[in-house]
Amino acid sequence: MRTGNKQDRRDNNELIEIKISPDNVKKFHKNVSAIEVLKSFDIANLEEVVAIRINDKLLDLSHIITENAVLEPVTYKDEDGLNILRHTTAHVMANAVYELFPGVKIAIGPTIKNGFYYDFDPQKPFIPEDLEKIEKRMREIVKKDISIIRKQVNKEEAKNIFSGETYKQHLINDIEEDIVSLYEQGDFIDLCRGPHLPSTGKVKIFKLLSIAGAYWRGNERNPMLQRIYGTAFTTREELEEYLQKFREAAKRDHRKLGRELDLYSFHKEGPGFPFFHPKGMIVINSILDFLKEELLKRGYEQVGTPILLDKNLWQMSGHWDHYKELMYFLEKSGREFAVKPMNCPGGVLIYRTKPRSYKDMPLKWAELGIVHRYELSGVLHGLFRVRGFTQDDAHIFCLPSQIEQQLIETIDFVIYIYDKFGFKEYKIELSTRPDDYMGSLDIWERAEAALKDALDHKDVEYTINTGEGAFYGPKIDFHIFDNLGRTWQCATIQLDFAMPEAFDLHYTGEDNAKHRPVMIHRTILGSIERFLGILVEHYEGAFPTWLAPVQVILIPITDEHKNFSLKVMDYLQKTGVRVDLDDRMETVSKKIRDAQVMKIPYMLVIGDKEVSKNCVAVRCRSELDLGPIPVEKFLEEIDLELKNRSTKSKVCHKDD
Ligand SMILES: [Zn+2]
Ligand SMILES: [Zn+2]
Repeated sequence: MRTGNKQDRRDNNELIEIKISPDNVKKFHKNVSAIEVLKSFDIANLEEVVAIRINDKLLDLSHIITENAVLEPVTYKDEDGLNILRHTTAHVMANAVYELFPGVKIAIGPTIKNGFYYDFDPQKPFIPEDLEKIEKRMREIVKKDISIIRKQVNKEEAKNIFSGETYKQHLINDIEEDIVSLYEQGDFIDLCRGPHLPSTGKVKIFKLLSIAGAYWRGNERNPMLQRIYGTAFTTREELEEYLQKFREAAKRDHRKLGRELDLYSFHKEGPGFPFFHPKGMIVINSILDFLKEELLKRGYEQVGTPILLDKNLWQMSGHWDHYKELMYFLEKSGREFAVKPMNCPGGVLIYRTKPRSYKDMPLKWAELGIVHRYELSGVLHGLFRVRGFTQDDAHIFCLPSQIEQQLIETIDFVIYIYDKFGFKEYKIELSTRPDDYMGSLDIWERAEAALKDALDHKDVEYTINTGEGAFYGPKIDFHIFDNLGRTWQCATIQLDFAMPEAFDLHYTGEDNAKHRPVMIHRTILGSIERFLGILVEHYEGAFPTWLAPVQVILIPITDEHKNFSLKVMDYLQKTGVRVDLDDRMETVSKKIRDAQVMKIPYMLVIGDKEVSKNCVAVRCRSELDLGPIPVEKFLEEIDLELKNRSTKSKVCHKDD
């Protein structure tokens, strides 16, 4: 013991060099803590510093530094810093729940985009009122400013500390290292990698948002836990701004709007498989009709391939090795089949049905294929994450020399489609060669250059994700911004050198020799079902007229006006307008209100004046009242709007 102490003292006398910027270096005794270092550098915003980074590793302020280092302070303003604040808030929440609900078991509490959650196994489910109670106790814990201390123990000790904590026992078993780290604040201790704020008093503004059921590890065969979501910020203004957005998003929740607008529903008999009602199918078909028209204009042909295909095919395509967990299987008469998770192998089989020449290229084959992927029930989320969906897929088989032109055309196509749906803003990511790439370096370099050239040609901005491409080829991903500023990854354009190789695809070149074609996989909307969900939230259910299930509703003032209304209805329907007649025994104002709730773009009120002048009194769903307009004039306007697939109504100028 004594010699050990001597040893320590000698170590501590050894000097190390710590830099916080290239020309700001100081010498310290070995085993100095990060916070002492920061204090001696006399930095201005020390109060804001929540952790440090050394060699890209995030560490606690209490971290002991034993060798020369470049130390980077991490503040609340840093994304990592904000996450540390949020994760510490999750610990404070777990601490409060622990105190308030004896017998509760704790599971995991990670940060997520915009906040955090913690999963609990309480003796009885939480109720909404519990959130306030928990928040109050959290504030007390923050006020006490309890030190948060990191400890390292071996796995055996950890198991003793968490005896009775079923979920923590599982987590400890999963850790590969012999030593695990714990964070202790007063009587509450949690298994955690860290880092954390140095004390509970450093937690600032927080809010608990909701309670949801969540299976342990997202698997429905496991127990259902109770998840509490929350968020944390450094200022009240930031929280308010976020809550505003959060409430707006809740109002736009596509699951809620889908129910209210009678578009689709979800049933326990088909978890992850949405059911589309007649109105929902109108929107889906409007989307598909538009896509099919555009495919024709752009020289695509459509193919259709089976949903069930032999297991051997999936082994050949590599899906068996890379995708098995997500696939459904079935066996009949001793033969094994898989439900397709992607359309590609089917298209490849069609390619191989006859010899192909360079003159046939490019072959542009689109498939609106239904694919199935087994997602864990914990991640299912309305239309956003489902188990079966329609992909607006296409495979382009082309000559290596055609890659760039095909990419330019595809990028063009994507941008055109987004624009028509009202998404004017998007970000583009180019992912390049990963370490485990297959194929020749030369082809990769040419393909990456082609992708870059295609993007430069379109004069669009993009970021490069170095090494993030798939093993079979580089890709471009599009993320669209919705009205709430959220991003959604939809389109992907992927070059593939592997599949033509695996299936031995070839074409006869000008030289009469056999060559490998290049395959481009591309989707624009991704999943039609998910895209519908995005549209519902983007427009808050008020679809552009061309997508609206009911485009016009006729509201006769009394029964006497019904005959004229039926004539107008017939007239509009013949031009392809989707019209409904509201002849219920209700007041006009009630009918208008109901039509507004259903987000119908045009309400045409018909009374004596309108009948006598062959007019309709037009009201927009934005509550704008345009007064009487001749029937032909209205038809002309709406017809033009539908033909152009406009996102804005010309008639209702102020309407979006
Ligand atoms: Zn933690
Ligand atoms: Zn594909």
